[in-house]
Amino acid sequence: MVDQGHDQTTDGSPGESIDFIREKVVADNAAGRFGGRVVTRFPPEPNGYLHIGHAKSICLNFGIANDFDGSCNLRFDDTNPETEDHEYIEAIIDDLAWLGFTPAGEPKYASDYFEQLYTWAESLIERGLAYVDDQDAETISAQRGGFGQPGVESPHRDRQPEENLGLFRQMRDGAFADGEKVLRAKIDMQAENMQLRDPVLYRIRRVPHVRTGDDWIIYPTYDWAHGQSDAIEGITHSICTLEFADHRPLYDWCLAQLDLPSDKPEQTEFARLNLTHTVTSKRKLKELVDTGSVDGWDDPRMPTIRGMRRRGYPPAAIRAFMDQIGVAKTNSTVDVELLESFIRTELNDTAPRRMGVVKPLKVIIDNWPEGQVVMVEAPNHQANPEAGTRQVPFSGELWIEEDDFKLEPPPKYYRLSPGQEVRLRAAFFITATHVDTDADGNVVAVHCNYDPESEGGQAPDGRKVKATMHWVSAPHAVDATVHLYDRLFIDDPEGTEGSETDPAQVLNTGARETTAAKLEPALADCQPGDVVQFERLGYFAADLDDSTVFHRTVGLRDEWANLQKRRDNTQGSGKQKGSGQNKNKKNQQKQKNAKSQ
Ligand code: ATP
Ligand code: MG
Repeated sequence: MVDQGHDQTTDGSPGESIDFIREKVVADNAAGRFGGRVVTRFPPEPNGYLHIGHAKSICLNFGIANDFDGSCNLRFDDTNPETEDHEYIEAIIDDLAWLGFTPAGEPKYASDYFEQLYTWAESLIERGLAYVDDQDAETISAQRGGFGQPGVESPHRDRQPEENLGLFRQMRDGAFADGEKVLRAKIDMQAENMQLRDPVLYRIRRVPHVRTGDDWIIYPTYDWAHGQSDAIEGITHSICTLEFADHRPLYDWCLAQLDLPSDKPEQTEFARLNLTHTVTSKRKLKELVDTGSVDGWDDPRMPTIRGMRRRGYPPAAIRAFMDQIGVAKTNSTVDVELLESFIRTELNDTAPRRMGVVKPLKVIIDNWPEGQVVMVEAPNHQANPEAGTRQVPFSGELWIEEDDFKLEPPPKYYRLSPGQEVRLRAAFFITATHVDTDADGNVVAVHCNYDPESEGGQAPDGRKVKATMHWVSAPHAVDATVHLYDRLFIDDPEGTEGSETDPAQVLNTGARETTAAKLEPALADCQPGDVVQFERLGYFAADLDDSTVFHRTVGLRDEWANLQKRRDNTQGSGKQKGSGQNKNKKNQQKQKNAKSQ
């Protein structure tokens, strides 16, 4: 398991940045609760791929287990056979490992406990705590009422245990059609908390289950399965997102009815991760996949673990980001630029530097000796001499970036233009003389002269140039396909609380630009998944299936620092995102990031 590097101690004395859930664990341990055990779980429903929001829950649950010498289970919450699939189970197991976490023992499944859950349900019935209702879902829902509105009791609420038991067994045995009957807890139809108004515990679904096949046609609801699964596994701290807060009394009620040891699991809620420009809902992500808006769950534009992995996000950077944003009790939205700054910081340290031209323009050096090739030495990492150097072939025909040449340069344009001298990284000074154009007047090649005295990128007379550009020798270039990415959503696709936005309305259909790039020969050695820096352009990941395809992981500019600067300038008037408690920490990180660029 990965050490999350939290600075709190686990001996009961909180360190400086301990979050409220860890505080609770510390207090529980100090009070001798759970005998000092700390067991958490990550409970995904296998109905989609994991996304960045799940990564937060994973880092929290595994992080706490790790910090307190406890353990964390992976438990599939597989109680909805309609939407669940093996594909998702396998992907979740794999993605968890990729993120750097090892669950305790084998993966667990709520479906492993179906028989026990059924037995417990019969015991509720026998004690008059549950009844079979013949009404349909709409009626039950309407009768539930609402806040300040009374609930209406079902006409079947006072069925006797004997009859209920018989009916429940018939439900299991297939005597009724789907939806014809449900089992409900008999709690309180006037409870202020709607969850306690006789919630449904079992429904009939003739759908083969991903693991139990046709063994069952009745399935427990989340509320009947979750707390009991926690109890069976000896979970101590059952951590979930805020939307489950009003389920907590029901969670406790279910456990209270069962013959369990006194140290029952306890549910604690935290604020889910919301990110600007990002969908963090499996349902909405599935819609993007199903409508063909993206290539699949692993499309690099997707905020799925699969997508981020293909795009070259290092798992360590995702963990560091989660550590940084902390755990809050109220919902907020974090800038996606902050996540990207963590990706950039990590890659800045780890990614070798290479040269690649993503939008190539031909340069012809007219005074270069015909056919000559020289090898120039280029550092693999400017800030880290230990990364060594490599030899890069240089010839009289090169590719440069289209943007690095202007026939009519605007003011303060210091890159190549007619008469302007520039440095080619690790090679020579060149000066543009004239261009070749096509029939439409587009520049197709730039003719230059080079200064043979400037080998290595320095002129012996000490004259300076203002621009240093990357390049690739044309006869040696490796062809590659490069995908440049923009945000998948031009605005926040989740909307604000209470007013949901339709992600399709803010989808950026131009979020991917594909180019035919020319790369230096060393890039032919990239293995699938390798991430390198193309100098001046950003970090690029070799595709996992085809290493002649590169995805731009993230650009070089620290957009997060820029965003903060813009906000500082419009102080008070700008909309402030992110939880206040993390602001100082964030600013420190900003400075750290800025320094390391
Ligand atoms: P989705 O809405 O994307 O389907 P979910 O909560 O239904 O999410 P689950 O598979 O039930 O998906 O989630 C597994 C765990 O991950 C749950 O404990 C859930 O609370 C947590 N989780 C899901 N989304 C987020 C998020 N955005 N931030 C933090 N935790 C999350
Ligand atoms: Mg869920």
